[in-house]
Amino acid sequence: MPDDSRGRDELLLSGVRLVSGQVVDVSLRGGKVRAIQAPGTLPPAAEGLDLRGYLLLPAPAEPHAHLNDALTADRFPNLIGDLGGAIAAWSDYQPSVTRDDFVERATRAALLGLANGTTAIRSHIGMDEMVGTKAVEALLEVREALRGVVDLQLVALNVRMTGPEGAEMRALMRRAMELGVDVVGGCPHLDPDPIAYHHLVLSLAAEFGRPVDLHTDEDLDPAVLYLPNLADQVAETGFPHGVTASHCVSLGVQPPEVTADVAKRVAAAGVAVICNPQTNLYLQARGWPSAPPRGLTALRSLLEAGVTVAGGSDAFRDPFNPMGRGDPLETASLLVTAGHLTLEEAYAAVSSGARAAMGLPEVEVAPGFPAELLAVEASSLGEAIAGGTSRVVIHQGRVVSRTAITREFPTATAVPAATLGRSKV
Ligand SMILES: [Zn+2]
Repeated sequence: MPDDSRGRDELLLSGVRLVSGQVVDVSLRGGKVRAIQAPGTLPPAAEGLDLRGYLLLPAPAEPHAHLNDALTADRFPNLIGDLGGAIAAWSDYQPSVTRDDFVERATRAALLGLANGTTAIRSHIGMDEMVGTKAVEALLEVREALRGVVDLQLVALNVRMTGPEGAEMRALMRRAMELGVDVVGGCPHLDPDPIAYHHLVLSLAAEFGRPVDLHTDEDLDPAVLYLPNLADQVAETGFPHGVTASHCVSLGVQPPEVTADVAKRVAAAGVAVICNPQTNLYLQARGWPSAPPRGLTALRSLLEAGVTVAGGSDAFRDPFNPMGRGDPLETASLLVTAGHLTLEEAYAAVSSGARAAMGLPEVEVAPGFPAELLAVEASSLGEAIAGGTSRVVIHQGRVVSRTAITREFPTATAVPAATLGRSKV
């Protein structure tokens, strides 16, 4: 991207299509959407961008990433293919990763996500006795370096936290908060005492005034169900800083009456739920000889209960998921095909739902809202989710990324130009 976009305070997007189908001009000023009017009726701005053929959407956000692990799949394969295999591979290689390696890959992964449209990314960062806060310190550096380009929220992630065995990890979590990490994380279902774990992280987060985002019930065993206790503790304590439960896999395999009851309690507590379809499709039910469950949470029940539901990409070409491209439209596509959400629900999960789960201000393509926008070369929301590739990303009212593709075919091939958008024939 040329640097000439820096410092622009005024931008006119012309000829762009809204999800309603209406074609409009949109003016941005001071980091906000200022006006939306019929083409040619707004005054000229200091900078203009011709977006004919593009669909304008509120920018997605990535609510669940692991930037410190991203792009390692070819170096550190998961030999078993399930969550245990991924954790084993992770534990083996983490101590050998240098700070510069963390910084380089996390930066590259964040920028790939930005190119796909995510102007805000929440990344968990694993810690253990051997790695300490090395990855945390590297990601804090990346967060500062990318400020103004893409917003990063960092979550300190421990597995073991309770009892005498968790003392060192509790100290590390405290150290991470003191260093400036944004969110308290964890994996209560992998600790011997998940209930005490909830109490511990809520107390620690209250002390530091930080939100909580926990890997929750990432298991297909229906007995691994600690989400209702998390919701009840949040409701009972009135924890005020925001709580998010990521994964919630086992909620998807409960009897309907249990699912409905838990969804009601989660809604009452104001706990947001993040579904990570690609990684859980990869990791869960591995080796089941037939009828493997999809490993997604109970999306429909949660939505019906009024829970804030978000969609994340989670692992991104690492031992937890060798596939992926950090693309919210790919996540939305999976929420349609594997989660059976509508197009609108799926896009809301990766945009408004994701932003709400991250505690960010609401974004709409409407005057007065923050100018966090994604323009995709597509004529409808379905076409964008199914494969919109050419994209323009706007953060704080200025263009921060452009991706354009060119398709070419033999000149003798008779393909109607209209079916190829702006592609060259
Ligand atoms: Zn995760």
